[in-house]
Amino acid sequence: MTPAALPGQGLRSRRWLLWAALLTLVALLLGVLVFLAAEYEQARDQAALESDATQVATDIRSGLLRNVQTLQSLHSVSPTPDSWVLPATELLNAHREIMRLEWRDATYRLLAARDTPFRGHLAGYLERDQFLPEMRQACESARRLSGPAFSASYFWPMSGGQGMELMEMCLPVVRPGEPMGFLVATYTLPGLLAELPGRSLLRDRGLAFTEPDGTRLALHSTVQGSQRSLSASALLDLPGHTLMLRLESPRRTGGLFPNVLTAVVGALSLALLAVLALFGRDMRRRQRAELEVAEALAFRKAMENSLVTGLRARGLDGRVTYVNPAFCQMVGLAPEQLIGTGLPAPWWPPELVDEYQQRQAVRLAGQTLPREGYESVFQRSDGTRFPVLIIEAPLIDAQGVQTGFMSAILDLTEQRRVEELNRASQDRLQATARLATVGEMASLLSHELNQPLAAIASYATGTLNLLQDVPETPVRADLALAMQRISEQAERAGRVIKSVADFVRRREQVHEPVAPQSLVDAIAPLLALQAKKLGIRLQVRMPAGISAVLCDRTMVEQVLLNLARNGMQAMPEGDPPQQSGLRVLTLSARQTRLHADTRPGGPARRLWVEFSVTDHGQGMSAEVQAQLFTPFFTTKSEGMGLGLSLCRTVIEQHGGALNHEAAQPRGTVFRFTLPAAGFVLPT
Ligand code: ADP
Repeated sequence: MTPAALPGQGLRSRRWLLWAALLTLVALLLGVLVFLAAEYEQARDQAALESDATQVATDIRSGLLRNVQTLQSLHSVSPTPDSWVLPATELLNAHREIMRLEWRDATYRLLAARDTPFRGHLAGYLERDQFLPEMRQACESARRLSGPAFSASYFWPMSGGQGMELMEMCLPVVRPGEPMGFLVATYTLPGLLAELPGRSLLRDRGLAFTEPDGTRLALHSTVQGSQRSLSASALLDLPGHTLMLRLESPRRTGGLFPNVLTAVVGALSLALLAVLALFGRDMRRRQRAELEVAEALAFRKAMENSLVTGLRARGLDGRVTYVNPAFCQMVGLAPEQLIGTGLPAPWWPPELVDEYQQRQAVRLAGQTLPREGYESVFQRSDGTRFPVLIIEAPLIDAQGVQTGFMSAILDLTEQRRVEELNRASQDRLQATARLATVGEMASLLSHELNQPLAAIASYATGTLNLLQDVPETPVRADLALAMQRISEQAERAGRVIKSVADFVRRREQVHEPVAPQSLVDAIAPLLALQAKKLGIRLQVRMPAGISAVLCDRTMVEQVLLNLARNGMQAMPEGDPPQQSGLRVLTLSARQTRLHADTRPGGPARRLWVEFSVTDHGQGMSAEVQAQLFTPFFTTKSEGMGLGLSLCRTVIEQHGGALNHEAAQPRGTVFRFTLPAAGFVLPT
């Protein structure tokens, strides 16, 4: 892990922590909201259930009051116990909640009675008298109240191990002129629950009469299933007795979101989460983009810093807005000293300010800038001038508006120096070539002229000798003088020629150790020009670690240049054709075995380096080969015919040898040897 990775990782884990906290908070909020909504819902359901329970109690009470009126109608027409039975039967048929109707006199003696047709006889299992106390209690209350009164409920067992909760209602029957009696209606509590409340209130609900302690007395229905239920109680306050009603309703737990509110809150929370997630993604993208931009910036910075080309941006007013390190290094000023500076620029040489101002004005006038750039001269902070190449382009911002100029500046100092060096070496080579040629010519001339001159001198001497035998005459004296002069002049001519040859030869030859590669490098730029023109590829084969040679480097460069030029001239355009792949001139060097040095006084055995120049030109006919080293022999219209003989002279002066043979698959290879520096073995 690099130290730079640490803060980034800390940031990432902190971001995850924040996200986790946020998600937990939202989940908590959602939970609380759902819980509160469920609670609210339950409270609302409870309130509705309680109001329904009250409504059920009201329904039962009003049903019972209605029944009182119906029952009273039985006695509106002074019935006899016999005539009472029929309407009583009808009434029982219409009211299933009533088990039995009895007409009793003031002493509770039964006058007439009728049982409901829907159930078995009440007295089927137990004697009816068993419930007289309840009946009496009710009737006493009724008498007191002069109105209907109810007894407490009681359990009445019936046949088949069954039974039911019953309740007596006693209604005093008072008719003027008649002894008082009672109409006793026996209600079944389950019947009350089944018949009197509105049906809509009871759907899917449980309804029961209970004791105050919750013990169930009579049941109409129970809540289906084993779900938890809500319950509400209501008091059924009847004259003489109070019953407790219990209404139960299944708890509505319809999934996670029991009602619309919760669902809406849930949906909103989910939407909030989704928005947060989107926001997070957006943030991540933004961060990624920022990272990419930062990386791109870092890359750009690294690139700008590594450039050797100076970069400079200027606003339209000529003020510098940006410089890279290379530019600062060129002009020797710090960025702070450059940014914000206007015209004249600090790197302008004072004598050129006017010219540069004009150039700047032209540029600002909107003239197009040359793509290839222009040359100029800048001044360093120490006052030295240096040549530069400026390539300028308009600076366009993201909106497509030009905001200034961007310039790339190349320092041409080094290029100029190399050019100067090349030119100097070319001049030197050419001067040497001329001198060498003149020397060669002079030595050839002296060699050729020495014989005729010697002949002239000896003829003159012979003639003088002959004249000694001729009698003295003025003519003889003149002839003898003339012969004397001829002989003197011939000698003088010989001396002049010798002195010219000596003068040319006298050029001191300095034999120094020179690396073969540097010999080739010196002539390569000169050869390259010609090779390019002819479409010839130059190839140099130089084994690594090859020994240096002892030579006069200028002369040997001249030899190499001559041979290479001859080779290229032997390959005029189209011969060999370009596609043959033979348009190659190879310069190579290799070390050879030890063999004798031919120079007088040189060591007997030494190491040699053999140079070769191979072309694939037309080669040489036997005729040409025979005259190759003959001075002034040439097959070229502008040739001098001195090149090869000069080469041979130079190489032989170094103790080496120059020879040639046919190259493969065609052309000629010229080879020459030079003594290697060092590696000398005595004889
Ligand atoms: P010059 O180049 O001035 O003609 P040289 O002495 O260098 O004089 O060459 C003499 C002649 O030798 C050339 O004219 C040419 O005919 C022949 N010659 C030299 N080198 C080659 C070569 N590599 N291939 C074919 N002919 C050559």
